Parts: sequence; structure tokens; C-alpha cells
Amino acid sequence: MRKLTFVFYSDTMNDAPLRLFCDEQLGKLARWLRILGIDTEYEKEIDDEELINRSRTEGRLILTRDRGLAEKAPDLEVHCLQENYPALQLQEFARLFRDRATIRLFTRCAVCNGEIEEIDKAFVKEKVPPFVYKTQEKFTRCISCGRIYWKATHRDRIEFQLRELLGEFYTGAKTNYDTS
Ligand SMILES: [Zn+2]
Repeated sequence: MRKLTFVFYSDTMNDAPLRLFCDEQLGKLARWLRILGIDTEYEKEIDDEELINRSRTEGRLILTRDRGLAEKAPDLEVHCLQENYPALQLQEFARLFRDRATIRLFTRCAVCNGEIEEIDKAFVKEKVPPFVYKTQEKFTRCISCGRIYWKATHRDRIEFQLRELLGEFYTGAKTNYDTS
């Protein structure tokens, strides 16, 4: 696999964090972007007009596979992705936005795009399986949907996949477990 070498801005250099809206064909990409901590809206079966209006109101760039969508919103920044597969779309995103995106891994909810906050272990006792409670020390929660996250094996797999896919764009990314 071709390795990509990128530099990305630190928080202090990035005045306006990237805000995105993925169209309905890009659900898997949207999940990846949220895992990377990039503010990404996505809704199934949203019509073009609503997607465009919300992007305009919320200051979001649009990612799409549909050239027609770009023509409907000439005043907005719309990127029409060439790639068909989510993993390749993620690489394409990295090529396009390497200077504008800041990665903060696991700081957004993959399901709803809400921000993630750390929570006290005592709070999750009744909310996670006993084995998880016994073996994990750090827990986080989505402030929008309440979903609880912890550092399970699938996270290691996700990090491995991201490193493979994104190379230097990924290296050095902060995770919300770095402070331990
Ligand atoms: Zn959520």
C-alpha cells in the first residue's frame, strides 16, 4: 500500500475547525471521520435541499459522490469524491484536507457526532458489563446520545487500520486516552 506523508495543523494554528456534511452515500466515511474527531454530520435519506440548507447554516463543507449536488450549492464548498470504497475515500479525504484537518481520535461519537467527555468509573457501574467494569479504568460518554465508550480491543484494531490507511496523516494524532 502506498504510504501518504502529511503534516497537519495543531489546534493553535487551526482557527476554524473543519466542519463537514457527508451526503447519504458516505455513511461509512462519516463514521471514520467522527472516529478521527472531525465534526461530521450525516443523515440517512436527507434530501439535497435540507442538506444544503443545514450546511449553509452550520458552516459545513459538503462531501458527496454526486456532481449534481455541487451544482445546486454554488455558494458552498462542495467536494465531489472520486473513490467508491470507504477506505479509499478516507485516503482521498486525507489528500484533500491534510492541511485543514486536526485529528483527535475518539473525541466524537461515531454514531451521532456528539462530543465525548471523560466520566468517572463509578458512574458506569450499572451501565457496562461486569467484566468491562472490572478490567477497564477509563470510560468516556457521548454528551448527545449518552453512549458509553471504553478502550476495548476493537479500538486497537481501528487504530491499526487508520495507521495503515493514513500513514503520516495519522501519526502523532492525539487520543483521549493520551493523558493517562
Ligand atoms: Zn452519540
